[in-house]
Amino acid sequence: MLDVIRSDIRQLTAYQVPDARGLIKLDAMENPYSLPAALRAEWLAALEHTELNRYPDPQARTLCEVLRQTMAIPEHCGLLLGNGSDELIQILALAVTGANQRLLAFEPGFVMYRLIAQLTGLEYIGVTLTADAFALDLDRALEAITRQHPALTFIAYPNNPTGNLFDPQGIEKIIEAAAPGLVVVDEAYAPFANASFMPYLETAPNLLILRTVSKMGLAGLRLGYLVGAAECIDELNKVRLPYNINVLTQHSATFALRHQAIFNQQTEQICSERQRLIAAFNAIAHIHCYPSAANFLLLRLSNAPAVFDHLKQQGILVKNLHGSHPLLNNCLRITVGTPEDNTALINVLFQC
Ligand SMILES: *Cc1c(COP(=O)(O)O)cnc(C)c1O
Repeated sequence: MLDVIRSDIRQLTAYQVPDARGLIKLDAMENPYSLPAALRAEWLAALEHTELNRYPDPQARTLCEVLRQTMAIPEHCGLLLGNGSDELIQILALAVTGANQRLLAFEPGFVMYRLIAQLTGLEYIGVTLTADAFALDLDRALEAITRQHPALTFIAYPNNPTGNLFDPQGIEKIIEAAAPGLVVVDEAYAPFANASFMPYLETAPNLLILRTVSKMGLAGLRLGYLVGAAECIDELNKVRLPYNINVLTQHSATFALRHQAIFNQQTEQICSERQRLIAAFNAIAHIHCYPSAANFLLLRLSNAPAVFDHLKQQGILVKNLHGSHPLLNNCLRITVGTPEDNTALINVLFQC
C-alpha cells in the first residue's frame, strides 16, 4: 500500500527532534523562562471560560488587534496568522507552486525552506553565503535571482544557524532584483536583534515580514504571523485552512502579549547572558565564537562531534551542525539558557 505514497516523500526522513528528557535543553532556541507564578494564575483564570465545544474565531480578531498594537505592524498592511511560522512558509509555497516555479534561500540557513520547497513541488535554489563570515555574497545572489526568477526568496534576519544579521543594503538590492517575486524576510529572532525590515513595507510591495512568538517565550503555542501588502495577504489567506489557530493559542497569546513587559525583561536577560557566554567562549583557546544578534551562538571547535557527545554525557543538549553543511564543519549551535544552564555549559567546555 506504500506504492501510492509519492516516491520523493518515501525517500525523505521525517524531521528529527532529539529526546531531551532529563537534559539541560540548549538545542532549540527556546526562551528558558516560563511565566512568573502570579501571572500563570492570571493566565489560567483568563482561560477558564474558554468554550472548547466551539470553533475558535476564524479570523482571530482579538489576537490580531493585540499583535498590531504590540509589534509595530504598519496600519495599512495585511496580517496572516499561522500554526507556527512554519505553516506560513508552507502557505506561501502552496500559493506559488507550479511548473518551473522556484524558491531561493541562503545556505547554511534554516532547513525548513528547502524541505517545504521539496514537499510542495517547488524547485529549490540554495545560494551559498561567504565562507568566512556567513555574509551575503551579493554578486552570487543577484546573478541567481536575475537568471532564475524565484517566485519566493527567503532571507532569515538574523540568520539561523549562523546568528548574524546580513547587510541591510544587500537585502534591499535583493528585494528590488527579485520583484515581482516575493521576498520574505524571516525575523524569527527579531526580539534579540534590535533590527527589522518592517519599515521597508512602506516602499517595497513584494516584501513580506515573517515573525513568530516561539523564540520570545511562547514556543508551545505554535503561533507565527506574516505581514505585507493587504492584497497579497488576502490571496495567501485563501490557502490557509479554516481555524488554523486554536482557541487555547488565541486566548493564551492574547493574554501573553498584553503582558509583553515580562517577555521584554526575559529578552534583556537572555541578551546579557549572550554577552557573558561570548566573553567566556572567547577565553577558551580551542573555541571560535561567531557574532550573534539572536538567542543562540554558533561555535567552531576542533572536534565538534566529540564535544557534542561529551556535553550530552554531562547532561547538556546542544545542536550538532557538523555534517549538515560543508561550511559548518566542526560547528555547534548553542541556545542561550538561564545563568545556571550557561555556567554549567561553560564549565564543561572549559574542561574539554
Ligand atoms: C525557529 C525558526 C522558525 C520557526 O518558527 P515557528 O514559528 O516555531 O515555526 C522560522 N524561521 C527561522 C529562521 C527559525 O529559526
